[in-house]
Amino acid sequence: MSRKSLCVFCGASNSVPKKFLDIGASFGKMMAGRDLTLVYGGGDCGVMGAIANAVMKHGGHVTGVFPESLRNIENEHQSLSEIIIVGTMHERKMGMFERSDAFIIFPGGFGTMDEMFEILTWKVLLLHDKPIIIFNYQHYWDPLIALMKNIIETGFAQPQTATYYHVVTELEQILDVLEF
Ligand code: AMP
Repeated sequence: MSRKSLCVFCGASNSVPKKFLDIGASFGKMMAGRDLTLVYGGGDCGVMGAIANAVMKHGGHVTGVFPESLRNIENEHQSLSEIIIVGTMHERKMGMFERSDAFIIFPGGFGTMDEMFEILTWKVLLLHDKPIIIFNYQHYWDPLIALMKNIIETGFAQPQTATYYHVVTELEQILDVLEF
């Protein structure tokens, strides 16, 4: 069986409490230990950088997909196993999607939410059936999860939409849910 690839969507900001970077690093170490490939946006900062650095440090494999158009705003990581430079943000998201067997949503900002909702709505539209896991670390995503529940309860999304994503609060549960 070929090595599984996990796509992690997460924040690029460094201006967050250190615990968010630390939990990212712990997950990176865990991924390397399970021989899982990290697929992510290819940046070197924030939770993104913390996870990628930890996977690399512990001998794992990382594929970054970084858009040329972002070069004056974010920096691409210089020492990944593989970096794929694409033209646009849309190509980046497609590149991450195609290379991944599952998607994990770590704490992040608007970019992370954009990526999460795109992958969720693609699943609703039956464009894929890959697992989506929201890592609700220390309840960071509680307001988002409440909003998603409200959308479903009000009828703006079908009840089965709630079955298209998992919410976990512990790092270990991520790989338990995936059974990878
Ligand atoms: P953030 O969660 O805002 O820190 O962003 C996380 C990552 O998502 C960063 O690499 C951003 O460049 C990226 N990002 C921001 N906006 C978008 C968007 N509209 N579509 C895709 N990715 C985005």
